Amino acid sequence: MKIGGLVSQIRKITGGTILAVELYFGALSGLGAYADINSPQIRDQYHSERLVEEEMRRLGVVNKRVNVRFINRSCDGILAPAYSEKIREGEYEITIYPCATASSVKHELYHIEDGHIDAYDKLPRFLWSVMDLIYYEPRAELYSIGLELKK
Ligand SMILES: [Zn+2]
Repeated sequence: MKIGGLVSQIRKITGGTILAVELYFGALSGLGAYADINSPQIRDQYHSERLVEEEMRRLGVVNKRVNVRFINRSCDGILAPAYSEKIREGEYEITIYPCATASSVKHELYHIEDGHIDAYDKLPRFLWSVMDLIYYEPRAELYSIGLELKK
């Protein structure tokens, strides 16, 4: 194949890939936006804790401890309205900003219950990042809008 043909082929391939990636992220952020539409905004620490307790019951989380940390400050410059992390074996923390909604809490608890957070310690970083993009995030987003996929 001549260079011109090769470049044209690469353009076709990368152009298609870039478009697919844009469509994928557009769909994911669309799901997130849809989930937030009718979801109440989180007001304070007390509200955060009640939502987490309620959602833990709904999800059937029994053998995991989940701490809640509400940070009452501007959401300017934050990467996400809420995020979750593992503190130690069986104990997790969800950090929530005032721009988070109840669907953000559902999203984060799903990450915890479905083992996405635990996988962070078990998988190589690159593989976890790939899994996060194609598996963990879509599942958590779908759960936050009321759809639960079978494991
Ligand atoms: Zn997520």
